[in-house]
Amino acid sequence: MKSLESFIRNVPDFPVKGIQFKDITTLLKNGELLAQAVDQMYDPFRELEIDKIVGIEARGFIFGSALAYKLNLGFIPIRKPGKLPAEVETEEYNLEYGQDSIEMHRDAIEEGEKILIVDDLLATGGTAAAAARLIDKLGGEVVGFSFLIELTELKARSLLKNYKVYSLMQFPF
Ligand code: AMP
Repeated sequence: MKSLESFIRNVPDFPVKGIQFKDITTLLKNGELLAQAVDQMYDPFRELEIDKIVGIEARGFIFGSALAYKLNLGFIPIRKPGKLPAEVETEEYNLEYGQDSIEMHRDAIEEGEKILIVDDLLATGGTAAAAARLIDKLGGEVVGFSFLIELTELKARSLLKNYKVYSLMQFPF
């Protein structure tokens, strides 16, 4: 098993000054590493019952749908506002850079379904916490979060303290 940290490209001051952007395309373009990342992101949840995978736009779709395929489970997208065509539930959140909201189709989840939420990166945890609130509202049960990268200095764990949270790689910021 390879160490994946060196395959993440740090781009300073993108998209705005002060942000150390973690570019994952340098990992994604290698098939062996992508497969390893998806397997490792699932590993801590092996013993848990999961009904559906939720992925957060846009890079959460990459890992979320790969994992859904691997487990033969359905995939549900959480999207930026105005992208989903049918009736949606909306939650607002603070991003590391700016403010935004996310949406999910109202009929995406059946009452009591167990959901694993997948995204590429945990920064402040605002997006992840909003995703959990969306799933709660729609009657689902969040069994955990799996991230490729966690920025540990941003202390997102306190926002997600009621959940099982896994990150494959950690960087301070
Ligand atoms: P947050 O809500 O602060 O946890 O932000 C998480 C979302 O913003 C993820 O979906 C990431 O794709 C994106 N993001 C935040 N900070 C960074 C960063 N430093 N590098 C790359 N993506 C980031």
